[in-house]
Amino acid sequence: MAKKTTNTTNSQHCHFCGRSESEVPFLFYGEDGASICSDCVQRANQILVETMETKRKATSEFHLDELPKPKEIKAFLDEYVIGQDDAKRYLSVAVYNHYKRLSQKKAEDDVEIEKSNIIMVGRTGTGKTLLAKTIAKRLKVPFTIVDATVLTEAGYVGEDIESILSRLLQVADGNVEEAERGIVFIDEIDKIARKGDNPSITRDVSGEGVQQGLLKLLEGSIVNVPPQGGRKHPEQKYIAVNTQNILFICGGAFDGIEKRIASRLNTRTVGYNAVQNLHKVNTDNLMQYITPQDLKSFGLIPEIIGRLPVLTYLNPLDKEALLRILTQPKNAIVKQYIKLFAMDGVKLEFQEEVLEFIVDKAMEYKLGARGLRSITEAIMTDLMFDIPSADVKEYTVTLEYAKAKVEKMNLVEA
Ligand code: ADP
Repeated sequence: MAKKTTNTTNSQHCHFCGRSESEVPFLFYGEDGASICSDCVQRANQILVETMETKRKATSEFHLDELPKPKEIKAFLDEYVIGQDDAKRYLSVAVYNHYKRLSQKKAEDDVEIEKSNIIMVGRTGTGKTLLAKTIAKRLKVPFTIVDATVLTEAGYVGEDIESILSRLLQVADGNVEEAERGIVFIDEIDKIARKGDNPSITRDVSGEGVQQGLLKLLEGSIVNVPPQGGRKHPEQKYIAVNTQNILFICGGAFDGIEKRIASRLNTRTVGYNAVQNLHKVNTDNLMQYITPQDLKSFGLIPEIIGRLPVLTYLNPLDKEALLRILTQPKNAIVKQYIKLFAMDGVKLEFQEEVLEFIVDKAMEYKLGARGLRSITEAIMTDLMFDIPSADVKEYTVTLEYAKAKVEKMNLVEA
């Protein structure tokens, strides 16, 4: 086959770049006097590797047999998120179906699997964002979180709807193909609900207009995205992103929606079989009875609701759930502190009462799971300052100590 030249005549040159033998490190010869230099071989190899990588990404990543099954997705979610079984099941199935849709060959038959965008309804701090984040981690796809409250209609102060996709592009390191099968979590979707029942009296800058803008993304279209995000302006170059295969997961607290659910359930139950039906309704957690109709009466436009076909809910977190959140998930708060101290060679323990105290305080301040972190941090800060320089091998956080630190926190806040 090819060999390094020993021929010293000056007429030999690379047939790819045209440089003569004296200008290149090596010249290889093939049949019939053809030759190629080592630089061109290297460049060809580089192109081959890049092309193969792009092909691999485009074709093999979502082969169905490589995709985690819904049960596997749920098991993964269980490692990080406490409770919320219904939401986990809905999400696992919707995500699995979404990527099934992506892996299907085009035009195999007339059955087209539609997009399964998701909406999760539940009080703030119950794990909506955590669920979406954890799913994205399992699937290894680009993931971004946007807050619906900063979005406005084009031409108004705030961010254009397209900025959602700019962020996804940034997370995907500018790789459009990757971004086009990512996941976008739109938080606080309830905040762009239409205010009031009559949509046409006043212009509703942050409500219905934004919903109309979002529709375009949710239903799948090609959108021109400013690569740097922010506002669009005429001189800017845009990147075309197809949202057809982007999975949108929306979340919102929908404060007060329980009243609407209750009144709907009551109207339904008036009359025949009313008494039996009322008995079946669990009035402590009405969110589980949510239907698309309730979202509409809250102020989401029917077109948006239609584009979010998977509707699920999250349960409020009770004391028992908060205690588990503190200690059980793979990266539970308590485990994190234990690890931090272990890195200094210190075995850290918490009295059981301390954990209950943290949970009680979080409930008292109505901070939900979010409060667990800040309260624990307030208890631990001084220890994290002192212990690394102290000659200690073990430390147990006592209730007395925790109470003193939290009291101090209250004084500072007051
Ligand atoms: P939401 O999006 O519903 O407002 P988040 O998912 O942002 O709430 O939750 C806030 C924080 O509270 C999370 O980062 C997580 O630490 C904790 N948390 C909330 N719910 C759960 C849960 N069900 N399991 C484990 N941790 C949770």
